[in-house]
Amino acid sequence: MTVTADRDAVFLAGIGEIAETIAAVHADDVDRNARFPIEAVTALREQRAFSALVPTEHGGDGVSFRAIAAACFTLGRRCGATAMVFAMHQIQVATIVRHAEGAPYFEEYLRALVAEQRLIASVTSEVGTGGDMSRSVAALTPAADGRSSFEKQAPTVSYGGYADDLLTTLRAHPDAAPGEQVAVLHRTDATTMEPSGTWDPLGMRGTCSPGFTVTAEVAAEQVLPAPFSAIAPETMVPVSHILWSHVWLGIATDAFDRARAFVRAAARRAPGEPVPAAVKLSHVMTQLSMLRGEVHRALDEYVAAADDRERLGTMAFALHVNNLKLAASEQVPRVCQGAMGVCGIVGFKNDTPFSIGRHLRDAMSASLMVANDRLHQTNAGLLLIAKEV
Ligand SMILES: Cc1cc2nc3c(=O)[nH]c(=O)nc-3n(C[C@H](O)[C@H](O)[C@H](O)COP(=O)(O)OP(=O)(O)OC[C@H]3O[C@@H](n4cnc5c(N)ncnc54)[C@H](O)[C@@H]3O)c2cc1C
Repeated sequence: MTVTADRDAVFLAGIGEIAETIAAVHADDVDRNARFPIEAVTALREQRAFSALVPTEHGGDGVSFRAIAAACFTLGRRCGATAMVFAMHQIQVATIVRHAEGAPYFEEYLRALVAEQRLIASVTSEVGTGGDMSRSVAALTPAADGRSSFEKQAPTVSYGGYADDLLTTLRAHPDAAPGEQVAVLHRTDATTMEPSGTWDPLGMRGTCSPGFTVTAEVAAEQVLPAPFSAIAPETMVPVSHILWSHVWLGIATDAFDRARAFVRAAARRAPGEPVPAAVKLSHVMTQLSMLRGEVHRALDEYVAAADDRERLGTMAFALHVNNLKLAASEQVPRVCQGAMGVCGIVGFKNDTPFSIGRHLRDAMSASLMVANDRLHQTNAGLLLIAKEV
């Protein structure tokens, strides 16, 4: 076994234990009360999972991106909200690791992240731009002593009330065009976060994602050195789409497993008799395997291209990662609804071993985490001009 494989195996064994013994136990309560999955998040912190992706030279565990994706899947099978919090944090870590090379502030920050297991939330969406993360309204504005300030109206900040740090996109300066953006890292204890709404949604209730007016003053060194126009296509967009879709695959897989358990229980009750729902289960398996195939294909493509910045900047790659998000987010509710169709009323009820309600509701968030219509529109434009698809 290589050192990386060994690290990955140890990391994933710990994640599996947390998923089974903690996340699964509290998932329904987290969902019912739209409360933060504090038990699972605390366990992840104790296991140093927040810095798993940080390279060993910065004191982290140097776990592979494949293992992080597998962890999103494993957690997603037991609690979609825990998995999504974990995934969103890892997206911010991947962004910092890949785009802050040689910047002393961020190298110091990575050491603090490892030591303190800091949790990072994302402030990309903005009132006025919706889910279009390639545009910002709020701008970094010069303040006293060479510092800059900003105020951003954020419609949705997942676990904003629980995060230690925020990675926020802004226009680079007051005269910058909407697409001339930077990403800024700032501590929540040096930020004013005025709630601008509540969080009582259909699904992904445990992500605790209300809106906030986010106000802070930052030093120049807190701005990631790479422009956001490079960060988004090379890291933030592909990593988001891959990790989110692993979470969704986890949710869909558990819905399928519950439907299979229902069919097997029915078969045991009447040995030798046909189980009508078994054929429906076979149809759900077909849908699930298409989802799994697309998710794994996209992961392989990204891992193969991760160090090839030229490849990551191609239209073909952008099309593929957008297509992953579109295909996966459209497929996950289909699988969950199919699983509910297999289980019938015991799948519809919230308090049976075959309940699919939480899965289906969590799955409904997938097409909204950056509206699919926006991505379809982007891909429609790219399809007209891309030489290679
Ligand atoms: C569970 C969850 C957690 C989230 N957490 C965070 C977070 O932590 N941080 C963060 O920054 N964001 C987060 N988001 C994302 C954020 O909430 C939304 O992406 C953002 O608020 C945009 O909302 P919207 O879909 O209403 O806006 P829009 O994207 O403006 O969409 C509104 C409507 O207009 C349509 N539309 C918009 N633009 C186009 C277009 N170009 N072409 C065609 N149709 C279009 C859409 O289809 C949709 O029907 C989260 C979302 C969810 C579901």
